Order: sequence, then C-alpha cells, then structure tokens
Amino acid sequence: MGKVYDLAVIGGGVIGLAHAITAARRGYRVLLIERERRANGASIRNFGFITVTGQERGASWALARRTRDVWAEIAPEAHIPIEHRGLYLSARSPEAIAVIEAFLATEMGDGCRLLGPQEFRSATGGLGSVDLQGGLYSPHEIRVESRNAIPLLSRWAAETLGIDILAETVAFSSLPPQIETSRGVVAAGQVIVAPGDDFATLWPERIAAYGLRRCRLSMLRLADPGVRLPGALMSDLSLTRYAGYAALPQAAALKARLLAEQPRHYANGVHLIVAQGADGTLIVGDSHHYDDLPGPFAPASAEDDILDEYARAFGCAAPPVLERWVGTYASADDRTYLVDAPADDVRLVIVTGGTGASTSFGIAEQVLDELMGEAR
Ligand SMILES: Cc1cc2nc3c(=O)[nH]c(=O)nc-3n(C[C@H](O)[C@H](O)[C@H](O)COP(=O)(O)OP(=O)(O)OC[C@H]3O[C@@H](n4cnc5c(N)ncnc54)[C@H](O)[C@@H]3O)c2cc1C
Repeated sequence: MGKVYDLAVIGGGVIGLAHAITAARRGYRVLLIERERRANGASIRNFGFITVTGQERGASWALARRTRDVWAEIAPEAHIPIEHRGLYLSARSPEAIAVIEAFLATEMGDGCRLLGPQEFRSATGGLGSVDLQGGLYSPHEIRVESRNAIPLLSRWAAETLGIDILAETVAFSSLPPQIETSRGVVAAGQVIVAPGDDFATLWPERIAAYGLRRCRLSMLRLADPGVRLPGALMSDLSLTRYAGYAALPQAAALKARLLAEQPRHYANGVHLIVAQGADGTLIVGDSHHYDDLPGPFAPASAEDDILDEYARAFGCAAPPVLERWVGTYASADDRTYLVDAPADDVRLVIVTGGTGASTSFGIAEQVLDELMGEAR
C-alpha cells in the first residue's frame, strides 16, 4: 500500500503469473493480487504438460511454441526441474496411423515422426498394446510438476524479479488508478485481470457476453510402474480431442471407430495423458464434464475409463491409484482464449481451451505489447 505500480495483475494462477513475470522482465513495477495464500486452482492441478504438438493449428500452436521456449528459459532460473521432454502417442488402429501421417504432412509435423510398433515399445520401456500399430513422436514438449512449479515461479517472481505479491487478498475492482481490495486500495496505471474460472467477481457482465461454461476434469496419481518413461504418453483418443489432429479430415474415420468401440469414454470426455514425476509416480488423466457450475462429484466411471484406456493403450493394467483430484477451468466453444478490454487500461485474459500452461507466456507477451503500447 502506498506504492504506485505500473501494472497490477489480479489472479496468481499461471496466466496472471505469466503476465506479471513478462512485465517485470520488461522493467515495469508489478503487483500481483491473489485471493488464496497461494494459487490453488487449475494451475496447480494440471499435468504441467507444456504441449505444442496437437494444439489448434495457427495461433494456438504458435503461442505454445513461444510459451515452451519461455518455460525452458526461465525454469532453470526459478529452480523448476523439467521433469521430461517430448511426447509419445500410441496408435492402435490404421485410422489412427492415417491421422498421424496427415498431421506429419502439415507444418505442425516439423521435427515429429512416425514410430513403428517396435520402436514405440523400445522407447517406452516395453509399453504398447498387442494391437499397437505405431505411434507419433514429438520432441517439442516439456513437462513440469505444477504443484511445485507454480509456487516456485511465484517465489522467483517475488524474490528475483521484485514483483510484490498480495496474497489472501481479493480484488473487488480493477479500474485504474485505484483498485479496491480486501486489504485496502492499491494504485496502478494498468491492470490485467486473470481470474481463471471466477466469472462473478470482476467484470461479470463482460465475461457473460462470451457464454463461458466450466469444465471439470478428473485426475489420478498412480504408483511408479517400474519403468522410466522418456516423455509424456498419449493414446488414440487424444487424436480426436486435440484440435491440431482432430480438425484434420482423416480424424473423422478414427472418431467414428472409437465412438463405436468406446462410447462411454466419449460420454465422460476421457482421453489419456500420462506424465511421470521425478519420484517415478504417474500423473494420469483426464475426463471432461461441462456445466455452468460443475459440482465436486466426479463419476467413478470416468476414473474407470481413464484406467481402462491406460490398459488398452499400453497392454498392462494401470498401477494402483495413490491420489485423486478434480480441477475446473473456463471453457468456450468458439475460442481457446479471450482477451477483453473492459477499459482502455484494463485487459481481461481467460484461457478457455484447457491449455493455459502451454500458451500463457505467449499470450502475455501479446497482451502486454498491446496494452503497454510496445511494438515488438
Ligand atoms: C486437471 C487439469 C489438467 C490440465 N492440464 C493442462 C496441461 O497439462 N497443460 C496445459 O497447458 N493446461 C492444462 N490445463 C489447463 C490449465 O491448467 C489452465 O488453462 C490454467 O491453469 C488457467 O490458469 P489461470 O491462471 O487462468 O487460472 P487459475 O489457475 O484458476 O488461477 C486463477 C487465480 O485467480 C484468482 N482470482 C480470481 N479472481 C480473483 C480476485 N477477484 N481477486 C484475487 N484473486 C482472484 C484465483 O484465486 C486463482 O488462483 C489443465 C487444467 C486442469 C483443471
């Protein structure tokens, strides 16, 4: 209190942090306001999978490449371990192979390649179903352990970049030059509002115009399977979920086949991501249920379907479940993120495609270029 900031950022998840960090690295005086003692929402509940391959073609794919580069640059400075790199997506039908081949023929396939079944198995410590046809390898991804990485990022932001963090503080308004908070009024020239899926506290009428809903996801931590994975794993279902593949014409035949074979997986919005932590345990998910107000009651069938897809894809039963949790994020049918300008010096930034860890820094650079009048 008493200080005047160039920029106040409301929301201490990965989107708010990315804006705060980007601005501070450009030399601005930054204040970050977060309702909780530390971020406790989507940003710490996700896979920490900074995904490039599979992102929607065009802007999202480019934002993800840039975001991955920023993560790789700052992670060592913030003492955040990169848990693994790259992606291995297993395919168990000719239709899935056709989608991978079509993907590789696009500009998004740059650096990626098709693996034969033996190559896939030897890369993944023997994982692969009996009907494995091959797989996609992408070198572009990195993965951090979000529950540790986000607090480390906050600490680095405060201790090294000099960002002031007001935790356990709610922002009730966001119009400069004075922002009302639960701890009093703070002064800032410009404001970023990054509220995640809080649609009610700030600019509710602006947010309502986008027709957002929430998506609830089920997540699991499984015991160490006894093999070291070379990167994150996915399976056929992901080829019909991630827009970078799913928008390709070849994906229609795969989806028809999978819908016939695994209808409940689709009803639960299940596809498979497997990421291994430094201790060998696996973060595995996820399901997708959409609602205005998704309750905390996740169906057991979603968990069953995730574990079933693990067994189908990798030809072995999933290891025992150690932890379960749900997370929610903002969702839109027509966009992967939104940047709204409720006032000249305020930007509202919400990622609506479930890809905030993967696109945060790229979005922040573009938003700040425009807000701070910097042509880069
Ligand atoms: C289970 C799960 C798995 C996912 N996996 C991935 C993945 O692997 N890769 C990927 O790229 N993305 C993934 N996502 C999506 C990604 O996590 C989100 O897109 C991202 O975390 C959104 O970040 P955020 O900062 O906007 O929101 P949040 O993390 O929800 O943070 C918003 C913050 O704003 C604070 N806040 C809101 N209003 C106020 C206010 N008025 N005053 C003060 N504070 C306020 C809240 O307390 C909260 O901490 C996943 C999401 C989930 C739930």
